[in-house]
Amino acid sequence: AEDMEFRLRTGEVVDETTYPMAPHMSSEEARLQTFTSWPSTAPVRSRDLAQAGLYYLGESDQVQCFCCGGMLAGWETGDTAWGEHTKHFPYCFFILGHDVGNIPFQG
Ligand SMILES: [Zn+2]
Repeated sequence: AEDMEFRLRTGEVVDETTYPMAPHMSSEEARLQTFTSWPSTAPVRSRDLAQAGLYYLGESDQVQCFCCGGMLAGWETGDTAWGEHTKHFPYCFFILGHDVGNIPFQG
């Protein structure tokens, strides 16, 4: 996958109070519900993307992180949601394991 925006935050001191970028997507269940029209041909499962903090933007295979706001698209066979999120947005506070208000799926 490729990141969709210039990584302005790379190497910068990040203000923690600005996170998460999309608080209404803090719940994994809310994120999962955005994937109703996720292309069945995509090599990454919607459940894995939601677990990795990502929700579907409704176009092509573009997803965005509720925490860092990073966008990913162009998923390829062998990509993993966590792997690509970590690779392109290593300073994401969700990726780093900070408490950013994520609500895991409850069944
Ligand atoms: Zn992120």
